[in-house]
Amino acid sequence: MTDARVNLLGLTRSELEAWCVERGDKPFRARQLWHWMYKRGETSFDAMTDLAKSFRATLAETAEVRLPAIVKRQDAADGTIKWMLEADNLQGFEMVYIPDGDRATLCISSQVGCAMDCSFCATAQQGFNRNLTAAEIVGQVFLAQKELGFQAGDNRLISNVVLMGMGEPLANFRNVVPGMRILLDDLGFDFSRRRLTLSTSGLVPQMYKLAGESNVALAVSLHAPDDELRNELVPINRRHPIAELLEACWHYIDEQNGRSVTFEYVMLDGVNDSPAQARALARLLKGHPAKVNLIPFNAFPGTKYRRSSPEAILAFLDQILKGGVMATIRKTRGDDIDAACGQLAGRVIDRVTSRMGSKRIAIPVVNA
Ligand code: SAH
Repeated sequence: MTDARVNLLGLTRSELEAWCVERGDKPFRARQLWHWMYKRGETSFDAMTDLAKSFRATLAETAEVRLPAIVKRQDAADGTIKWMLEADNLQGFEMVYIPDGDRATLCISSQVGCAMDCSFCATAQQGFNRNLTAAEIVGQVFLAQKELGFQAGDNRLISNVVLMGMGEPLANFRNVVPGMRILLDDLGFDFSRRRLTLSTSGLVPQMYKLAGESNVALAVSLHAPDDELRNELVPINRRHPIAELLEACWHYIDEQNGRSVTFEYVMLDGVNDSPAQARALARLLKGHPAKVNLIPFNAFPGTKYRRSSPEAILAFLDQILKGGVMATIRKTRGDDIDAACGQLAGRVIDRVTSRMGSKRIAIPVVNA
């Protein structure tokens, strides 16, 4: 019964308008529904008192506002919160809330698992399970607000959303783009485009497509200054090498009148962290709208990599800055609950999946 109902959460405004018209109602009902859902945080049609009783009855039969179910919530000492959410068939995906001074970032997932197979990434071990639906993507933000005590009219609980959880967002283009549209819509979540960041491992054709359809902030997982090393760390590089990837980045910024691309660079001891590699990285990016975000590697069971020393990270930063490129080091947050980048691992599900003979679920999340 429940499964036959449409989840209104995943529908863009025009899709919801069309849905209302199909049901013999006025398109403006969509605005009313959106107001209740996104401005008031309401999920029950009964409470939507300015809708006609008959329409509410139709809604209750044919539709629902369904949020992802929480499997587990963990609160870290530094205020970071991690939720494990249920996908299906014992699969889970995670989102992380990271408060930091006057900003608070929600890191959301776009897929259950990932097919990109990056060698230093825990999700790669799990392989790809499925795409999240637009409802599940938007539902993460809705649910987090609810968990954080959302009050109608207050939209400041979450200042930034980053698609940096589990999965490759551009490999789930058809659900991610409508999901982002709902997050950006002023009648929806009303996030500014500079506070919504999509991170990609470098799916070049989809980056060009994105430039035509969206204008959110772009982050790119670079991780190496040359193709030989990047082929090893980020295998999609064999199909779309660095020169091609960077062209797509500059094109995106040109098209979107954007500020700059953030290049994520995970710091792996003895692999990609030498001063010479930092200088090579700066040469690639100098003169372009680019900034580098260095991410100290977070180890996970079974990995062959180690985190670069703090001295190596600082020296690397110094060389990039001297090379004329902006760079920062990402803070590690929530590590006491395994919520830092690359540490997310679905332990509740673990127990079950090990019995089912599947691999463990582990997702990397970035504290932006
Ligand atoms: N697939 C997208 C979205 C994931 S974002 C992408 O690759 O950009 C997650 C970020 O965390 C990526 O930059 C990823 O390279 C990085 N990451 C993955 N595993 C990590 C680990 N173990 N430690 C630190 N960062 C990691």
